[in-house]
Amino acid sequence: MPERSPAELDAEEFRRLGYAVVDWIAAYRAGVADLPVRPSVAPGFVRAQVDGPLPEQPRPLEELLGLLDDVVVPATTHWQSPNFFGYFPANSSLYSVLGDALSSGLGVQGMLWSTSPAATEVEQSLMDSLAGAIGLDPRFTFAGGGGGVIQDSASSAALVALLAALHRSNPGWRADGVDGLERVYVTAETHSSLAKAVRVAGLGERALHVVGPSPGSLAMSPRALAAAIGADVAAGQRPVLVCPTVGTTGTGAVDPVREITAVAQPHGTWVHVDAAWAGVAALCPEHRHLLDGVEHADSFCTDAHKWLATAFDASLLWVRDACALPAALSITPEYLRNAATESGAVVDYRDWQVPLGRRFRALKLLAVIHGYGLEGLRAHIRGHVALAEQLAAWVRDDPGFALAVPPSLALVCLRVITGDGPEADDAASREVLERVNASGAALLTHTVVDGRYVIRVAIGAVTTDASHVEALWERLRKERG
Ligand SMILES: *Cc1c(COP(=O)(O)O)cnc(C)c1O
Repeated sequence: MPERSPAELDAEEFRRLGYAVVDWIAAYRAGVADLPVRPSVAPGFVRAQVDGPLPEQPRPLEELLGLLDDVVVPATTHWQSPNFFGYFPANSSLYSVLGDALSSGLGVQGMLWSTSPAATEVEQSLMDSLAGAIGLDPRFTFAGGGGGVIQDSASSAALVALLAALHRSNPGWRADGVDGLERVYVTAETHSSLAKAVRVAGLGERALHVVGPSPGSLAMSPRALAAAIGADVAAGQRPVLVCPTVGTTGTGAVDPVREITAVAQPHGTWVHVDAAWAGVAALCPEHRHLLDGVEHADSFCTDAHKWLATAFDASLLWVRDACALPAALSITPEYLRNAATESGAVVDYRDWQVPLGRRFRALKLLAVIHGYGLEGLRAHIRGHVALAEQLAAWVRDDPGFALAVPPSLALVCLRVITGDGPEADDAASREVLERVNASGAALLTHTVVDGRYVIRVAIGAVTTDASHVEALWERLRKERG
């Protein structure tokens, strides 16, 4: 007999340790606003403290919590801080933390309907209901012949949309692969995940066609798209997919989806709408215009893990044809054969994604929706939009700053004005951003618009309120000098 069996935790010990973990998370979240948002650690700082042999014998969980306190927290960028305004915040409400725990607790693999009917049908039901809640055309629901699926990320959503598009444009693709004639249309503002999807799908970046903007805007020009597709078709190439963005990552610009679908459809070109950040705002009727024209698109994606209070990862993808993803992705080895699949009466989500296995992500999202209610989620979004409007008003009224582009929802892009010309403004903007970040009082990131340096303020952490945005504005003014 071994001295100590490597037994699983018993229920009592699990409860004790579980409470300790919940206590740790609660205390961390309660104090996160007071921590410097960005750690000041040198590369290698963490390795120097954690490198060493792995324990041969069991160690108490308390030791791990100690490591979190002593090493991990001081070397962490605190994305859940209310002073986090960088990238797009990854807002992870405590409701979603609990939902994630329930999902891990069940520990199911939802790859097929038959491997966990509840995981599949709860997700189908949730995606149908959410489509209604954001005002998506009913043809994106299972009832309407389409359907929704939760992917890990918008990047994966773009990849599977591209694979479905490749299959639709050339059904020989599954057997023969790509033929070098494929073309994919984006803009300079499109998220890099589209370029990555093109690479992963084996098209090579030569397949990527960057379409110019309409004059005086950052949005895709439908006229330029029509010219690009026309020229490609005349040269014997195939326009496979066009990706309009609703709420670009840099500035929140919105491509004209309706006009783009009108250009794409006669050529059979798949239209994938990437609304990773902004799409969830359509929960609010006043922002529903964001979905204008999406009813003519083939797929639509928005991340719950950016602005819907849900911990990474939960990206919502809807397609208008429920067969499109399985047609491209389905492969059934013998060991996955089952009567439910063969009956055709069920959805097997493994055919809607790249990996086989999948988590019960719908539980995390349901925990958020139950916790907030749709009204609460609308208030969450409206609150951030109102804060962005307030900040934009302060920027407009201060001669030391200017808006680089009109604010988009909860994203404010601004620059410092020195009176000494664009180059001095760019240098001053960069310095102000670096000083704010070095202070630890807030975290900001930047972009470049028309060659000019721009400070982005993305409001969206779960606990950000007026006091945090006011403090940020004061800090920006102070660091400007
Ligand atoms: C953040 C973002 C993405 C990528 O999101 P992931 O879910 O992290 O893959 C794609 N598109 C846009 C417009 C984004 O803002």
